[in-house]
Amino acid sequence: MRRVSILGATGSIGQNTIDLISRAPDEFRVVALSGGGNIAQLARDARALRAEIAVTAYPERLQDLRDALAGSDVRAAAGPEALVEAASRPADWVMSAIVGAAGLAPGLAALQQGATLALANKESLVCAGALVLDTARRAGTRILPVDSEHSAVFQALIGEEIDAVERIVITASGGAFRDWPLEALRSATLAEASSHPNWDMGQRITIDSASMFNKALELIETKEFFAVQPDQIEVIVHPESLIHALVGFRDGALMAHVGPPDMRHAIGFALNWPDRRDLPVERLDLAQVGQLNFRAPDDRRYPALNLARAVMRRGGLSGAVFNGAKERALDAFIAGTIGFLDMAAVVEEVLTRFEAQADLMDAEMTLETVTRTDHLARTWADSVMAERAGR
Ligand code: NAD
Ligand code: MG
Repeated sequence: MRRVSILGATGSIGQNTIDLISRAPDEFRVVALSGGGNIAQLARDARALRAEIAVTAYPERLQDLRDALAGSDVRAAAGPEALVEAASRPADWVMSAIVGAAGLAPGLAALQQGATLALANKESLVCAGALVLDTARRAGTRILPVDSEHSAVFQALIGEEIDAVERIVITASGGAFRDWPLEALRSATLAEASSHPNWDMGQRITIDSASMFNKALELIETKEFFAVQPDQIEVIVHPESLIHALVGFRDGALMAHVGPPDMRHAIGFALNWPDRRDLPVERLDLAQVGQLNFRAPDDRRYPALNLARAVMRRGGLSGAVFNGAKERALDAFIAGTIGFLDMAAVVEEVLTRFEAQADLMDAEMTLETVTRTDHLARTWADSVMAERAGR
């Protein structure tokens, strides 16, 4: 029996993970499940999977969780420290599927106790790539990428040397506004930004797909995870979302990973690694698909990509600044206080302000400095937004 924990179990990736492990109940023993405000879902899954412990991120919901778990053997806990404690419980495999920088500390705790970390939470690598990878190295454990593009690259690299890689191409659907006239983006609404043409995902990553902040995070994630140079990584718009990534080798060969847009492939690959086992994903009929299309991303439409390129070149704690400012700008867009295009403008301004603070950007990377930088970036994003509102 493999012991597994799922951080962010109530979300889109978490639920897909539960779908897979529920199909083989004799193979897995569930240690911890975590969620946020959806207590009913968390309790239902914790009971069905006979988890040791269920944790809500919100301390004020602890009593609700206790009530929902009454009469079962599942322990209830709440808050960020409880989350880290749950992630520290011995497990063989931990899914890191919390959204945002909040996933960093529990992910590190899971690595420290020696679990294999299936990493959907790309923000951990963006904010603290070197720290996360170093923690895995020290613990003698491993990180398996769950982002579809990174799982695709990982699979294309099986049996290959990283030195043989010339370039990595990650694909982007182009998001909800791919074909909108540029001027219309300014007044794009929350509802319009919250629907994705191909993938069914959480709301935040869906909006990040429309703005390409998601692809921007993935550029940084690629650089950190595969240790390649920034100019070796390309983004191409591929509206069908069937090719997830391509790896180009020195001899000119380009290996593409092709599959339906279903996260259960990447999750299942990480769950079964190093084996390949049957997965309940659609088999592509390429004759039916007929055509695959590609185009270069338009920098004016997607300013987030250039911001990410600057962050990759800058290094240090600039990834934590970028992500913290982005999360705050996204909160404001969701709350309706800034427009769609303002998100990139706010992040750019916060990055520029940090640029003047070399001591902050080049501080040693520890959980503490990353957390401090993340908080500061959010505070500065708030003041940038307040100033812009007054202009
Ligand atoms: P989601 O919004 O559907 O779920 C997020 C989960 O995190 C929920 O369980 C929620 O309760 C929990 N959570 C939210 N805020 C929290 C906090 N402050 N502290 C603790 N827990 C918190 O998100 P998702 O779409 O499943 O994405 C999860 C992660 O996976 C993100 O990092 C995302 O970028 C990445 N990812 C998602 C997909 C996808 O298809 N959904 C694909 C690739 C990568
Ligand atoms: Mg992705």
